[in-house]
Amino acid sequence: MSKSSLERLTRPIEGQRVFSPELPDYNFLRHCVRCARCLPACPTYQETQLEVQSPRGRLSLIKAVEEGTLSFDASVEEHLYHCLDCRMCNTVCPAYVPVGESILAARAAFGERLGRPWWRKLAFRHVLISADRLGWALWPVRIYQRLKLPRVVRPLLRLLPGRLSQLRQMEALLPTLPPRPLHRTVDVVIPAKDEPQYRVGFFLGCMMSQIFAIESRASLEVLSGAGCEVVVPQGQACCGSPQDDQGDREHVRRFARTNIALFEEIGEVDAIVSDCAACSGILKEYGELLHGDPEFAPRARAFSAKVKDIYEWYDEILPPTIGTQVLPVSDSDSSANGFTYVTIHDACHLANAQGVRSPQRNLLRRIKSVRIEEMEEPSACCGSAGIYNITHPDMANKRLERKLKNISATGASVVVTNGPGCLLQLKAGVQDRKMNVQIRHISQLVKDAMDDESPAQGGY
Ligand code: SF4
Ligand code: SF4
Repeated sequence: MSKSSLERLTRPIEGQRVFSPELPDYNFLRHCVRCARCLPACPTYQETQLEVQSPRGRLSLIKAVEEGTLSFDASVEEHLYHCLDCRMCNTVCPAYVPVGESILAARAAFGERLGRPWWRKLAFRHVLISADRLGWALWPVRIYQRLKLPRVVRPLLRLLPGRLSQLRQMEALLPTLPPRPLHRTVDVVIPAKDEPQYRVGFFLGCMMSQIFAIESRASLEVLSGAGCEVVVPQGQACCGSPQDDQGDREHVRRFARTNIALFEEIGEVDAIVSDCAACSGILKEYGELLHGDPEFAPRARAFSAKVKDIYEWYDEILPPTIGTQVLPVSDSDSSANGFTYVTIHDACHLANAQGVRSPQRNLLRRIKSVRIEEMEEPSACCGSAGIYNITHPDMANKRLERKLKNISATGASVVVTNGPGCLLQLKAGVQDRKMNVQIRHISQLVKDAMDDESPAQGGY
């Protein structure tokens, strides 16, 4: 039975004793046939072999809460936060149980009942709410890097013993910030380089703007070069993905309403494009998240229907062949036989949550100088998972190790992805292990190939 064919509940049904609007639909939970197909696919079960750390185990906990045999208890909530929200379970479940979504809904219900810790409120209601606010929070990092303190601090951190060594891993995750965030410098309308063929709205993610401004600018240049007039509405709110991950749905809905209204103001577009897998994932869920809001439900559905992840949009509009030559990848000889060998890390929120797997492969096959070397488990979580690598560093490290081993086995010199969390996590991992691999956003790779076709034309 598909998710859409299941009846949406408006009141408790037989067997359900506890009802709250944020709790996952009891009907969905009842569709779990306990077949165990999801267990070997789940990263936390792979690492622990514990039922309670499996998708089935988590569903059982939530079901027990809804049946009144378990209470809303902090220890149950803690188990829900062991989940990486990677949605791998959704991809293998024969009963189409929306496990990942149910876990997030349960986090929201627990947050409503038990309250949220101060740090979660500070981070997700005051800091990670827009590119501007994130920028304020990143000032200490800017100063730390401008004063070149990493040169002094890193050798000292290497000396720390035991669990204190996690500080070294946290420091390694600090991004190298661009001189200026993109949202402060970008034009509202970027014309198509030649004859306009499409008009698109561009969703500017907070992390993409503040941390990966160069990568996101490359996205805008590729879109413009491919005949898109790009409109970037000012004052965008966070997409809401971090808040959804942390069970704060009230704020996801608030941001969704702001973003929907902003994009309505720019008029008709062919697509609303995002170059961040987490953003495109949640933007596509606005319709579902606002289904109970009479004013916004139809507007949210219309908005979500227009959303395309950048891979999907590139695959739709870019020509069958991109580029003419071998790309310079690094100073070392990282290309061989005239080709650059690239492996794809599929962000969980792209491949598992949105089901986007082919567009990135179709796209890379069209870049003349690129050859794809598939890794094992391309959509397995790298351990980044929002703030999971900070709240659960041991498990996150195990996932990172596994991912880096799979990358290494391909022999590829470039890893391509479009998740900002993945970019940070993988960059820190290869840097720490001194691997000779570049971690790149897809737009950089496509832009390099397009520049190689028309090097004299420069940016937009
Ligand atoms: S695969 Fe689906 S039906 Fe089977 S145990 Fe997991 S959640 Fe339940
Ligand atoms: S979302 Fe990932 S970590 Fe969470 S239960 Fe599903 S497979 Fe396991």
